[in-house]
Amino acid sequence: MTQTANGLAFTRQPNTNPKSDAERAAILANPGFGDYFTDHTAVVDFTIDANGQGGWGNARIEPYGPIAMDPAAAVLHYGQEIFEGLKAYRHADGSVWSFRPEANAARFNTSARRLALPELPEEVFIESLRQLVAADQAWVPSGDGEALYLRPFMIATEAFLGVRPAREVSYRVIASPAGNYFGGELKPVSIWLSTSYARAGEGGTGEAKCGGNYAASLAAQMEAEAQGCKQVLFLDPFNDNAIEELGGMNIFFVFRDGRLVTPALNGHILHGITRSSVMQLAADRGLKVEERKITIDEWRTGVASGEITEAFACGTAAVITPIGELKTAEGTIASPGSGAGEVTMAIREQLLGIQTGAVEDLHGWLTRLV
Ligand SMILES: *Cc1c(COP(=O)(O)O)cnc(C)c1O
Repeated sequence: MTQTANGLAFTRQPNTNPKSDAERAAILANPGFGDYFTDHTAVVDFTIDANGQGGWGNARIEPYGPIAMDPAAAVLHYGQEIFEGLKAYRHADGSVWSFRPEANAARFNTSARRLALPELPEEVFIESLRQLVAADQAWVPSGDGEALYLRPFMIATEAFLGVRPAREVSYRVIASPAGNYFGGELKPVSIWLSTSYARAGEGGTGEAKCGGNYAASLAAQMEAEAQGCKQVLFLDPFNDNAIEELGGMNIFFVFRDGRLVTPALNGHILHGITRSSVMQLAADRGLKVEERKITIDEWRTGVASGEITEAFACGTAAVITPIGELKTAEGTIASPGSGAGEVTMAIREQLLGIQTGAVEDLHGWLTRLV
C-alpha cells in the first residue's frame, strides 16, 4: 500500500495467472502497437450522490481482464469518455521513466471538464502510472524505439439513460508494449486530405482527447486507406482550408530559410505534448518557430517552389514521422523531399534520445516511475 499525496492508497491484487516468462518474451520480441496488454490494470472509482457528495476512492491494481458493466452504462450510449497516451521508457541502468506525465495529467483534466467528467487529482494520475509500471516492470521493453505504452482513460459507468453527467465513473490505466508505430524503417508516410469530413469544429470537442473524436475520424480514415494512405489530414473548411492536424497527430513544416511552422492552437486542435516539445527543441537549435494559420494552398505552392523542404507529423505513439506526398481529390501534392528530412530526423533523434536517457534532459521533462 502506498499513500499518495491525495490520501488515496492503491491496494494490490496480483494476477495469479500472469503470462509466463516465455509468453511475455515472445510478445516483447515483436510487440507491434496496441496488440498485447500487460498482466495488471490500475483502477480508481468515482461516485457522487445527487447532492454532489462523494469523490474518488478504491484505488487499486488488479489483474487485467474484462470490465463488468451494466448495459445501460452511460459510456455505452452517450460516449462520455476521455483518454490519454504516454510511454514508459527503459533506461540503460534498468530504471523506467516517463516523459512529461504532468502535462498528460493536466490535459486529462482539461478533457474531463469538456466531457463533464470529474477531474482526477494530478498526483493520483501519476501514482497510478507508478503503481501499474511497478507491477508490470518486466513488460517494459528495452529495444531501440520500444517502450511500454500507457493508456489512462475515464468512462461513465452509471446505469442511467437520462442525459446528464454520470455520477459513477471509473478511471483506469492499461499498458501495452510498443514497437515502431508504422512498423519497420522510417519511410515518409503518404497522407490523404479529407474534404468530405472534419474531425472537429468551433465549440466542439477537438481540443479534448476523447474517443468520440476518433470515432468521427474513422470514415475519413477508411477513405484514406482506400487511397493507399496511412493517415488523414483534416482542414478547417470554414477558414480558407487552414490545416489542422491528422487524426491523432499534430503537423509541422520545415522551410528552407530555417523556419518551423505549425498550425496555431485554435480551440479545435489537440494540444500535443510532442508538439510543444518539438517547438522547444527547434527553438533551442535556432530555428524560428511559427504557430500560425497555414493553408493547403501554402503547402502546395511551398512544395512547388522548394520553400517547404520537409513536413512531419508528431505524437506520442509514432513520435516523429516524416510526411511524403499528400493525396487529394484534386490531385497529389508531391513529397517535399525524397526521404526523411534532415531537420525532421535531427529533432526525432534528439527527442528519442531524451526519452530513452541517451541525451541530457535539459528541460526536466523526465519523471522516474520505477
Ligand atoms: C493525442 C493526440 C495528438 C498527439 O498528442 P501527444 O501529446 O503529442 O501524444 C495529436 N492529435 C490528436 C487528435 C490526439 O488525440
